[in-house]
Amino acid sequence: MKRRAGRQPSYVWNKQQFDNIDPRSTDTVLGLFEASHMAFELTRDPGPGGEPSLAEMTVKAIQMLSRNERGFLLIVEAGRMDHAHHANNGRRALDEVLALEDAVLAATQLAPAADTLTLVTADHSHVFTLGGAPPRGNPVFGTDSSPDVNGIPYTTLLYGNGPGYVGERNRSSVRNTSGADYRQEAAVPLKYETHGGEDVPVYAVGPWSHLFSGTFEQSYVAHAISFAACIGPRKPLCMARQKAERVVTNNAPRQDAALLLLAATLVSLSV
Ligand SMILES: [Zn+2]
Repeated sequence: MKRRAGRQPSYVWNKQQFDNIDPRSTDTVLGLFEASHMAFELTRDPGPGGEPSLAEMTVKAIQMLSRNERGFLLIVEAGRMDHAHHANNGRRALDEVLALEDAVLAATQLAPAADTLTLVTADHSHVFTLGGAPPRGNPVFGTDSSPDVNGIPYTTLLYGNGPGYVGERNRSSVRNTSGADYRQEAAVPLKYETHGGEDVPVYAVGPWSHLFSGTFEQSYVAHAISFAACIGPRKPLCMARQKAERVVTNNAPRQDAALLLLAATLVSLSV
């Protein structure tokens, strides 16, 4: 279908094929690297038969989309930290946060800062806590310097519910707490940990980033993006503003937000 429309599509299923995509001549890419979810970054195979990282996919997408002189909207989702939280596996969850950070840094280095609005946000939090009063420099996957009331150590990271529930606490539940498969303890037994209900941050930098300050309903984010990029339902409002600016300044409107990048995550950085 894409070919019939005069576009150059590509389908890839491993890292080598992904690396071979030429962003200068490829218009659309479908990458299916797993039968189900992609690997956690902690155990991802970066070799030719493996999978690209989130940052590598972000860079490739920007290289392709940058060819459009009218700009682009890119949504990058770091979805696997959600799954790690549902398993009360704090190690993998925080490792996925670092993979997202790599993607954001790669994007901000590649896209021109003057006309790129970059957002980083989450669609919900998790019942994940960072507690205790350990000294500065204590490993985040370690235990507090003081034990619980029964003299048993407890980890800095804990969950409100999930499969990490151990019943009556004992020392065996705090062994190898920095291991990749360690489950932080949970207060209530559930097969899967649940999402949380607190507000999540929306970080923004670039043109129109001032629209994203304060507290607002999440549906506002899409409308603000629509206005900033002059696309979708808020395009008439954006066009009216540009027209008014033209009258006032007798100049062509600024092409701010010509490029727009949204980096979203499925889950929270609720720590
Ligand atoms: Zn979830």
